[in-house]
Amino acid sequence: MAINIAIDGPAGAGKSTIAKKVAKQLGFIYVDTGAMYRAIALYMLRNAVDTEEEVEKHVKHANVEIAYQNGEQQVLLNKENVSGLIRTEEVGKMASFVAKIGEVRKQLLDLQRNLAKKENVIMDGRDIGTHVLPKADVKIYLTASASERANRRYKELCEKGIECNLQEIENAIIARDEQDMKREIAPLKQAEDAVLVDSSDMTIDEVISTIITIVKKNTKACE
Ligand code: C5P
Repeated sequence: MAINIAIDGPAGAGKSTIAKKVAKQLGFIYVDTGAMYRAIALYMLRNAVDTEEEVEKHVKHANVEIAYQNGEQQVLLNKENVSGLIRTEEVGKMASFVAKIGEVRKQLLDLQRNLAKKENVIMDGRDIGTHVLPKADVKIYLTASASERANRRYKELCEKGIECNLQEIENAIIARDEQDMKREIAPLKQAEDAVLVDSSDMTIDEVISTIITIVKKNTKACE
């Protein structure tokens, strides 16, 4: 039976950075479900679709698939590799909008569950422990304060030479948290059986070793 690790948490908590590294150490496949919502968001942006009714109508034309290249997840939208186009704030914001819509979530659920059925995966998102993989072997809820998450994002953008404003970043993070936590379908929340990891005062390596310890305790993955 495949081993499944679920990592949920708010935007900018470091889920993908951490999950990627933990997956590498354990020899698991990393599945980034946010990228799937982002691909659908990109489709809607490209087609100027911006109401819930229109998204519901168009979503069946946005076929999302996942492939792996040198161990890195690639997301395909109608066979086009869009991995390099989905990391913008505009796409992230649209992803949070389309993620509220039942038709969108339904379309991605089978894809996510099928990946976890076949392989040992570490899957990150907002509803993995609560909805997608309710029987996951290990569930982590990874969070950090909004100001710390904003700081990290600010530094990342500055390092890339992108001009930005710390307060605006924090406001956007708080708005996205609220939209993800307050939606009706599969809102972001800690699963009852998830272990809470608050990374506000932790280094990346500390978070990784904390998670590996939790995984070791709960599975035979590292024996
Ligand atoms: O994690 P990432 O920032 O890439 O996710 C983009 C958006 O996709 C989130 O803000 C959230 O609204 C949505 N999402 C979701 N469920 C998931 C993964 C992402 O609703 N499992």
